[in-house]
Amino acid sequence: MANKTARNIGPVILLGPPGAGKGTQSKQIVERYGVPQISTGDLLRDHVGRGTELGLEARVIMARGELVPDELMYGIVATRLREADCQGGFVLDGFPRTAAQAGWLDAFLEKEIFEKSKKCPPVVIQMLVDYTQLLLRLTGRRSCPTCGRLYNIHSQSPLADELCDVDGSKLVIRDDDREEVISGRLAAYETQTRRVADYYRAQKRLVAINAERLMEEVTAQIFGVIDRHCLGWTPVAGRRS
Ligand code: AMP
Repeated sequence: MANKTARNIGPVILLGPPGAGKGTQSKQIVERYGVPQISTGDLLRDHVGRGTELGLEARVIMARGELVPDELMYGIVATRLREADCQGGFVLDGFPRTAAQAGWLDAFLEKEIFEKSKKCPPVVIQMLVDYTQLLLRLTGRRSCPTCGRLYNIHSQSPLADELCDVDGSKLVIRDDDREEVISGRLAAYETQTRRVADYYRAQKRLVAINAERLMEEVTAQIFGVIDRHCLGWTPVAGRRS
């Protein structure tokens, strides 16, 4: 998807269970609109990799497939969203995951993003995928430790078995994609993250899309939602009500 359109799209929030394709679709949004992808899973994995204090604490929780406490999340998200590259908008992948995080994010965006310059308000896209599909996607997920490219042995397999097409590195399975952890992650989603969708639905800010379709079709749906959302918004007299 070349066709890059550099313009302010404001915050885009992708909601969906693990395996819904948030990471894959975020990359398409990055490519088209030139905004950064903020993946809280990646930010945490970076801390784990660097062995920071936060990383040491998060590592054990993540390996169990549970959610890292909200207070730890707020610090890393706030720090990242204050960086200059987020000024024209960003795509949030994996945050918010609890209703409390959603409330915190609203307050943060209101204070730190909207006050500085009037920007397109957040659009929240919920990616719907059936449970059996999710299991297939998660158990088949592989990534390249060198270039980060994502594969799925069931649907997007590499040309050579378990090797990256780009650099030939041996593909790896994320610790929390092991079968025994997946059910815990999906349960955490069911109990906590569904409330995030309820939170945005109650405010009439949730747009649900069918994320079981082909990747390109899901991307087209998402671009359509973002384009309609931002075109219908004019920053002249402040924010749209
Ligand atoms: P992800 O890559 O988004 O699937 O996240 C991997 C793991 O990081 C999750 O299973 C959680 O343990 C942790 N994590 C990521 N985002 C959050 C969040 N917003 N709140 C709490 N924990 C998170």
